[in-house]
Amino acid sequence: MRVHVIETGRVQIKASQIVGRGHGLARRIAPLFDAEWSDWLPVNAYAIEHRDGVILVDTGVSAAVKRLPRWHPYFRSCVRFAIELEQEAGAQLRALGVAATDIKRVVLTHLHIDHDAGLGAFPSSEILISPGELERAKGAAGRLRGYLPQRWPKAFDPKPLILDDGAYGPFPQSKRLTADGAIVAVATPGHTPDHLSVVVEDGDAAIFIAGDASYNEETMLKGTIDGVSDNENQAAATLAAIRAFAEARRAVYLPAHDPEATQRLAERRVVSSRQSITAWAAASSRETGAADFVERMSASSGKAQSATKVMNRKLLE
Ligand SMILES: [Zn+2]
Repeated sequence: MRVHVIETGRVQIKASQIVGRGHGLARRIAPLFDAEWSDWLPVNAYAIEHRDGVILVDTGVSAAVKRLPRWHPYFRSCVRFAIELEQEAGAQLRALGVAATDIKRVVLTHLHIDHDAGLGAFPSSEILISPGELERAKGAAGRLRGYLPQRWPKAFDPKPLILDDGAYGPFPQSKRLTADGAIVAVATPGHTPDHLSVVVEDGDAAIFIAGDASYNEETMLKGTIDGVSDNENQAAATLAAIRAFAEARRAVYLPAHDPEATQRLAERRVVSSRQSITAWAAASSRETGAADFVERMSASSGKAQSATKVMNRKLLE
């Protein structure tokens, strides 16, 4: 099985959208008043070549997002895109030798514009989306929330993706997307309440296509809540589940906007458990001094690695 990164242009958002500031409503409106822009970040979709057909996870942006509704404060002051026609997902897949008709299914992690805007290029694919996410994105309420349902293709008729196959590792809800069970959708609520991710079991590694479950690997490891999630507890539980998954498995973590995702996939670089524990400890037990201890242990020598593992177990108990 091969997974391809399809980088559909770049985006800049506010720093406080990536690392949420404060709590509740204040956290969610902070990006509106934040003067600090992120670097230009990729807008990635991911194409999975499977013998049942190609599955595309998200569709990225299209050149149409250069025009956004100015009445909406988020679009007016919190996001900037850079994309040309040839960078759209459909065009890039064609360049890879994959015709739109080869894309059997398109799975959308959620319906934010940088994930659904490329849909128009795949009129014959089956589109799969969580019914809750579709409901949330529809109509005037959807527009207020920052979705662009008015730009969905005329024939947009997605199939509900119901995650009714039970638990998959630490994720309580899942759905196998292929007969061999190698590609699985899992519920990763937080960024949006019905957000989902896609896991590709590929040999000894699990490739975790995370959408916007977090904006990058570091914020996942630290359990950082973004500036978008409605429910902090739900988002924190999802990030904890992803960490638990990456502790148990060799997992390559691929969020949609992580500048390192392309390189990570090329090298099949997995989330290291030492890195995971260090970040977790640094974020959650600063006051106990445990983080410093783990960091010192990790940094000092190879011997320290096994000591760190013992320490990690203690920290987790
Ligand atoms: Zn999003």
